[in-house]
Amino acid sequence: MSIDAFQAMVIESDAGKPTASIKMLKDSDLPDHDVLVEIVYSGLNYKDGLAISGRQKIARKFPLIAGIDLAGTVVSSRDPRWTAGDRVMVNGWGLSETQDGGYSRYQRLNPDWLTRVPGVFSLDQAMAIGTAGYTAALCVDALESWGTIKPGAGEVLVTGSAGGVGSVAIALLATLGYCVVASTGRPQGAAYLTSLGATRVIDRVEMATKGPPLQKERWSGAIDSVGSLTLVNALAQTVYGGAVAACGLAGGPDLPGTVLPHILRGVALLGIDSVMAPTAKRERAWGRLARDLDVGSLRAMTRIEPMSNLPQLADEIVNGQIQGRVVIDVMC
Ligand code: NDP
Repeated sequence: MSIDAFQAMVIESDAGKPTASIKMLKDSDLPDHDVLVEIVYSGLNYKDGLAISGRQKIARKFPLIAGIDLAGTVVSSRDPRWTAGDRVMVNGWGLSETQDGGYSRYQRLNPDWLTRVPGVFSLDQAMAIGTAGYTAALCVDALESWGTIKPGAGEVLVTGSAGGVGSVAIALLATLGYCVVASTGRPQGAAYLTSLGATRVIDRVEMATKGPPLQKERWSGAIDSVGSLTLVNALAQTVYGGAVAACGLAGGPDLPGTVLPHILRGVALLGIDSVMAPTAKRERAWGRLARDLDVGSLRAMTRIEPMSNLPQLADEIVNGQIQGRVVIDVMC
């Protein structure tokens, strides 16, 4: 099939600084992978914000099509696992870092990277969840696998709660019957967080202030997308035998704490990576989302924006100004 010229958000290097802009591309600009996908939606994640704004070097080769997520339909495949018409998505696998990504009308992809979109979700809902939501599901899986964290066994803390990972984490945990405490820097958004299922909202300053290495035991578990002192305090406030699933660094990549919560209370720090997570883990996480995520909550946390708005949206997400999730319509 021949493809007409199409638009894509491309990152180039301008004297060493990554710069992103919309370009018209042709078929021969795409990589030579086995599956051609017509993309309908992508998403906006924190890492996309860093890549598009150039605040951090996410792309490691140039030029590179940005976008760590994509959802669309298979056009053609040289791999027998995929056929024309399949509804597929990709989360991570190096897209927008070393591989061309999802801010494009078309993409050629390695068949191993594709995940089937669960039947209960439309393509825009799959991207409303996107990497942020699938990471939230990986965090919930990790906490439940730890064994001590159960609905009714105490409060679960979610930090960075008004963001993408946080919003989906609250919605998932609430559906599962957990008592969720949302930590946020936007107290004016408390109604949004309680509408997703948070039972209580606290000011994130409380979590970001330096405290003693062991503090009053408050949380049976926690999902942290902030890092730094927030993560240190979450660990110091987790009950004996509890666990914290850490996936993010919106507040900083450092970990200025002690080993005391780990060696005196047996608290576990569970590291979560979505980018290179093996297929079985992804399928389990997406299965959980299909089963446990309330579609009404998903709708309430999502808006759709055109690709042309990405430069402004990138600044907003890196500045912590985006509430919930943004789906990117790659056709406009
Ligand atoms: P968002 O920007 O949507 O959410 C981040 C939230 O963190 C903000 O909404 C804000 O919540 C809070 N926040 C922002 N800045 C600060 C700050 N300086 N101090 C404290 N809190 C802050 O991003 P995502 O939810 O998409 O991603 C969250 C983090 O998780 C990012 O660091 C991202 O890189 C990481 N991530 C990691 C993945 C992995 O595979 N490990 C996958 C996906 C994301 P509020 O206003 O409520 O305080």
